[in-house]
Amino acid sequence: MSTTEPTTARRTVLTSVNPATGEVIDTHPIADEEAVAAAVAKARTAAASWGALSYSDRKRYLLRWSTRLVEKSDELCDLIHLENGKTRDDAFLELLLTLEHISWAAKNAEKVLKTKKVSAGALMSNFGAYIEQRPLGVIGVIGPWNYPIYTPNGSIAYALAAGNAVVYKPSEFSTGIGNFVAQAFAEANPELPDGIFTTINGYGETGAALVRADIDKIAFTGSAATGKKIMAAAADRLTPVLLECGGKDAVIVAADADVTAAADAVAYGATMNSGQTCAGVERVYVDASVRDKFVAEVKRILTDVHPGSDGKAAYGPMTMPSQIDIVRRHIEDALKNGGTAVLGGLDSIKGAFIEPVVLVDVDEDSAAVREETFGPTVTIRTVNSIDEAIDLANDSTYSLGSTVFSRKHGLEIARRIKAGATSVNSVLGFAAISALPFGGGRDSGIGRIHGAPGMLEFTTPHSIAVQRFAIPGMALMSYSRTASTMKLLRRVVPILHGRNK
Ligand code: NAD
Repeated sequence: MSTTEPTTARRTVLTSVNPATGEVIDTHPIADEEAVAAAVAKARTAAASWGALSYSDRKRYLLRWSTRLVEKSDELCDLIHLENGKTRDDAFLELLLTLEHISWAAKNAEKVLKTKKVSAGALMSNFGAYIEQRPLGVIGVIGPWNYPIYTPNGSIAYALAAGNAVVYKPSEFSTGIGNFVAQAFAEANPELPDGIFTTINGYGETGAALVRADIDKIAFTGSAATGKKIMAAAADRLTPVLLECGGKDAVIVAADADVTAAADAVAYGATMNSGQTCAGVERVYVDASVRDKFVAEVKRILTDVHPGSDGKAAYGPMTMPSQIDIVRRHIEDALKNGGTAVLGGLDSIKGAFIEPVVLVDVDEDSAAVREETFGPTVTIRTVNSIDEAIDLANDSTYSLGSTVFSRKHGLEIARRIKAGATSVNSVLGFAAISALPFGGGRDSGIGRIHGAPGMLEFTTPHSIAVQRFAIPGMALMSYSRTASTMKLLRRVVPILHGRNK
């Protein structure tokens, strides 16, 4: 190729591939800047009518969408298996959790967002004071591929229930799935205008165009690196951001833990979905007194757990080929830095499929402990006290989920962990309870999805102060204010605020 030729031709078509076989599944036209702007303009028009509907009307439309997804569940789970690689059972579980959230958002929007009357205070007692939560308008949603329906739905269903229109860019690794879900909304509600929930397809450039477009908020789920780029780009128009990024979640196994249950949870939490779970188990800190039993039990369980593409597989292939190199680098680094693989090792990587890898005594500064691995691996470190376990668990740039196993001190330990959520004596419990907000801090992101806080993310408060009657001489914000009013205020203020000792 001559150096004058462009090195990257502009892509117009996105090819969707089966990660297990490399076979092409489908192609999708890529939305360029103009197409993104057109989708957002259409959504803006649709938002006006959708936002004006009553909560009960929106509830009806959202629940019809759920019913449509249930009717098409076999087809959808087949597509998830094909395009994402996960097992059909895991796909169904993901659908179930998605339906739970649609239902919660649809049924709770009114309760969470209805106008609230608040006290106007003594000085303004002639006023009625109200907070109305208004939809923002058009929400841009950018999704990842690892939970291609559950994760973006944490923004989509809640934004819709709050009265917004949604323009959704699915991951380039789950485009067919994203379009299927949006199509189901349209099929379930043929009488609704176009544009309430639409998709735009493409790679990162299409996502970047959505961030630059005339949207009212961007709700992003993906890596911290992309999240930072999105926040920087959104600053240009001061577009608010909701960022759900990665994690490096720790599990603490205390001396009084049910060791068998803890091992079961860690084995599953570390490897399910090939370890491609933002709040999956990546690090374990286990008390020295139960360490040997715990490690032996994790190893025993995972010896019988294997990836594959057939009905017997516990989990599927790595969805994104580039992630395999990251997993390899982390295993190499862990072994170079004093770690030992008690199960598997570098030869566990077999093309797109990675067998479970259990690493013990890995240096805390190695990539396997500091960076998100996103593969079916786990590091286990022995600790001598709960304080040490908590310090190590909290020593991370990420702060998303966490888990504690302790019969007597679970809550106490949970309260000392710096994370957005903690599951006590189970793994990932918080992700399956719709009313609980989900999200993290630092490199794990900004804001929350799910529950009432997740609904409020897609609204803006509108404060309304209504003067119900005038108090003669008490027009504080008027040039008609009298000297005697000020005299009265000077007497009242010490009574109201000057007696706190
Ligand atoms: P990614 O950051 O590579 O991509 C996510 C999305 O961003 C994709 O749709 C991609 O096309 C788009 N994108 C890429 N560059 C962009 C840009 N410059 N502007 C706008 N959009 C852009 O992440 P991924 O590999 O798809 O997903 C895996 C990551 O997601 C992991 O870090 C995982 O932990 C995280 N994740 C977090 C949560 C959570 O709720 N916190 C849930 C699932 C996954």
